[in-house]
Amino acid sequence: MQNDPRSTNAPLRYVVAWHDDAPNPNASATSEALPLPAHVDWLVIGGGYSGLSAARRAAERGASVLLLEKGEMRDGASSRNGGMVHVGFGASIGTLEHRFGHDGARAWLDLSRAAVARVAHLSGDAPDALRATTGIDVGWSGVGHVELARSARGADDLAGEAVRRAALGLPVRLLDRAATRAATNSDAFAGGLAVDEGGGVQPARLQAALAVAAQRAGVEIRERTPGTKIERSGDAWLVRTPRGTVRAAHLFAGVNGYADALFPALRRRAIPLGSFMIATEPLDAALIARVAGRGEMRFDTRNFLSYWRPTPDGRIAFGGRTTFRTEPLETIARTLTARMIEIHPELATARVTHAWGGSLAFAFDRLPRVARLNGALHVAGCAGSGVALLTHLAEQAVDWELGGDAPLPALLSWRPLPFPYEGHPWFLPLAGFGFALEDRWAERA
Ligand SMILES: Cc1cc2nc3c(=O)[nH]c(=O)nc-3n(C[C@H](O)[C@H](O)[C@H](O)COP(=O)(O)OP(=O)(O)OC[C@H]3O[C@@H](n4cnc5c(N)ncnc54)[C@H](O)[C@@H]3O)c2cc1C
Repeated sequence: MQNDPRSTNAPLRYVVAWHDDAPNPNASATSEALPLPAHVDWLVIGGGYSGLSAARRAAERGASVLLLEKGEMRDGASSRNGGMVHVGFGASIGTLEHRFGHDGARAWLDLSRAAVARVAHLSGDAPDALRATTGIDVGWSGVGHVELARSARGADDLAGEAVRRAALGLPVRLLDRAATRAATNSDAFAGGLAVDEGGGVQPARLQAALAVAAQRAGVEIRERTPGTKIERSGDAWLVRTPRGTVRAAHLFAGVNGYADALFPALRRRAIPLGSFMIATEPLDAALIARVAGRGEMRFDTRNFLSYWRPTPDGRIAFGGRTTFRTEPLETIARTLTARMIEIHPELATARVTHAWGGSLAFAFDRLPRVARLNGALHVAGCAGSGVALLTHLAEQAVDWELGGDAPLPALLSWRPLPFPYEGHPWFLPLAGFGFALEDRWAERA
């Protein structure tokens, strides 16, 4: 059947495709039967990659740990993302060099490479990796990624980035228009930059495996148990929930794009942003091979970016940012479908079966943060690079709290936004207008 993105009868379900192909880390059944411990060493808020990684690390270091999730763990971004485990940040290496100098940029790039290596390790075959310890295969494919320019100016920017990254020791391949065409089987791009380190996971399986690993390390998880109020009592934290109050020595906020009134200092610093995805039905292997090549993670360099990849169960998953305004998911799904077909016209015959969205968070400089805000440990703000970075930084943050070195992002200042803002980013449509103009200007004929 022809997949017409303008059709009002698009045969899709508004559910997350990854959930169909992953164990549900749902702990609700046990959560409701179990009481809350009155006292723990660590209280972790949020059941995504950062909360689960922090909780597991603290438990492995001998602490008693309780993790609270206000809904189900699958509600957050960690089971809804593109699963791209890529080297890099929302900020370019050129921007990092300008701000921190050559050695500073190298330190940031090394952090990103270490984060990617950590997730690759967790996803692999080592005796302490997730498959061995939980029995869950997270669907790792170590195929790297390709950044794709939609304009000649974008291709020039990628050429500059290639030189800078190579000078910092990261192996890269710069692709001209013809090589990009050959690598992607698409005419949509003026150039590309390939990085062979990193790859992709099935994100919901990674989250499920991290949840099982955390529980095996001794972490107690309670879903449907929001933290509603935080107080200090001497050296301890008191966190209220509808099911009782928990006293803890250490408090970790792993709430990223889902911060509510519990962490007002985070809401004045991290800006939440929606990102959205669609997935096709499972496709013929020959078609997948034509449009997805080696299966590497792909994204373009627009402000209103698109990203896409094949899935372990043979679909194409395609995501992006279509607007900074609030739009119905149905409208967003149509825009993403049209974009996917524009890049790969062959996919016009592929039925889109799933569409979903989630929220991520970013700081204005598009770099991650590890910070003590009002005394509580926060890890947040990776823009679209949180799969690797938040998993890794949450572990580093726990080590820091227990006397280790400060993670690199902890050295950055993180000031509140300089205008009234309490979790509702009213200024984003304005910023989106500017970004859209910039994209159009870059691609003018
Ligand atoms: C569509 C989409 C695609 C993306 N693609 C990629 C990608 O390909 N690669 C990449 O690196 N990154 C990607 N990201 C970003 C990445 O998913 C996130 O950075 C990461 O998952 C955040 O993990 P987290 O654990 O910090 O937060 P989350 O996974 O968002 O979890 C936060 C949790 O905190 C809970 N919570 C909030 N407040 C409370 C409270 N008061 N009490 C209890 N619980 C609370 C929420 O319910 C939520 O479950 C994408 C994001 C989206 C939305």
